[in-house]
Amino acid sequence: MNSANPKRLLLLTSKLGYQARAFADAARRLGLEVVFGTDRCHQLEDPWGDAALPLHFERPEESAAAIVRGAAATPVHALLALGDRPLAAAAHAACALGLPYNSPGSVDLARNKLLQRQTLRAAGLPVPRFLSFALEEEPDRVLPRVPFPCVVKPLMLSMSQGVVRANNAAEFRAALARVRALVASPEIQVTREQALDRLLVESYIPGGEVAFEGLIEGGRLRTLAIFDKPDPLEGPYFEETIYVTPSRLPEILQRAIEECAQRAVTALGLERGPLHAEFRINDQGPWVLEVQPRPIGGLCARALRFGSQRMPLEELLLRHALGEDVHAFAREPEASGVMMIPVPQSGVFEGVEGLQEAARVPGIESIEITARLHDYVAAWPEGSSYLGFLFARAAEPAAVESALRAAHACLRFDLRARLPVEHPLAHHSDRG
Ligand code: ADP
Repeated sequence: MNSANPKRLLLLTSKLGYQARAFADAARRLGLEVVFGTDRCHQLEDPWGDAALPLHFERPEESAAAIVRGAAATPVHALLALGDRPLAAAAHAACALGLPYNSPGSVDLARNKLLQRQTLRAAGLPVPRFLSFALEEEPDRVLPRVPFPCVVKPLMLSMSQGVVRANNAAEFRAALARVRALVASPEIQVTREQALDRLLVESYIPGGEVAFEGLIEGGRLRTLAIFDKPDPLEGPYFEETIYVTPSRLPEILQRAIEECAQRAVTALGLERGPLHAEFRINDQGPWVLEVQPRPIGGLCARALRFGSQRMPLEELLLRHALGEDVHAFAREPEASGVMMIPVPQSGVFEGVEGLQEAARVPGIESIEITARLHDYVAAWPEGSSYLGFLFARAAEPAAVESALRAAHACLRFDLRARLPVEHPLAHHSDRG
């Protein structure tokens, strides 16, 4: 790319952590100039020397107007939204700037878990039975309609935060109390997300689960990878652990998942860019759990490489955002996997032992501990960040899975109970 007149990429992100950094690094490798748009400017220490555009993602039109004002001085050639929160702002901004992206309407349908369920059900897709109710509703008024076993979830959170399974009325009441407390916490309220005052409850779908990564172009979905999730996700909380690709599911089921994903994309009206989706699979076939027009989260993108040059997913997505044809790049032939290192119990992270031993496990490529020393880390369902990530590659998916399990078994995390603190707000994050 022309270094005298570099193209500029706008990266919209709520989190200014490792994922944003991986995309920014990939952009720089492509010779792009990166501008961050974020609602976390107060947290930005300008770690990569970029001035960031301060935005309020919960006010997408206002954010778009700010982006357009900024672009008048320094034109933007492509944009990419990381995570769920900036999606609506990205869609409005792209619309105003004339950049190809998903429409604001399609993104709104995808982002709100209730709207997504309604849209997919209306299109005849297999989704759980569901109902929505006000956060403050008396459990007794909802209970007669609840399909047990069920899953309770807020409408706008992500990463399984606040997602709780309940098998009976007593568990439902307990789940409700817990999800209410989470939603009322300052950490969640500060996001000012819409629809925080409603919950969704849906039938629990038994079966295995896969994550799907795809790329949409003109409404047509292309599969980038299907990840098996070999650890059972049966609740009561749904923290992710191992992802391994290629999937070991029979071809016919993988095709059914792809078909289901395409139908979901069409029903939501998504047109362009990355797609991350989750499906449950049982003897009735695939069920859509969720579909989001964004890349896979955390550092997981590192598990995916493409073409003979082993191009990282970040780079593939950036090239696509710039309008390049990336069809020719297929996922590498090796099996690959990542473990999002679970949080066994909430506590202050005081260190980890066994890293060297874990790194020596055959197949392990890298280990990233992303929790910050002396920081409080919450376990699920209140939690939403992992202790770190383990990456493995091998000829076969089974070997990748074994490597991840063996490396994880080497690690001993020191998580200490937090001592009571005087600060009036501090106790809110002590739950769980
Ligand atoms: P998030 O967007 O926060 O990840 P999801 O709705 O995707 O929320 O739910 C997170 C996880 O919870 C899913 O990946 C799945 O393991 C579990 N889950 C959610 N809904 C259901 C359901 N109806 N049946 C079975 N498991 C579910």
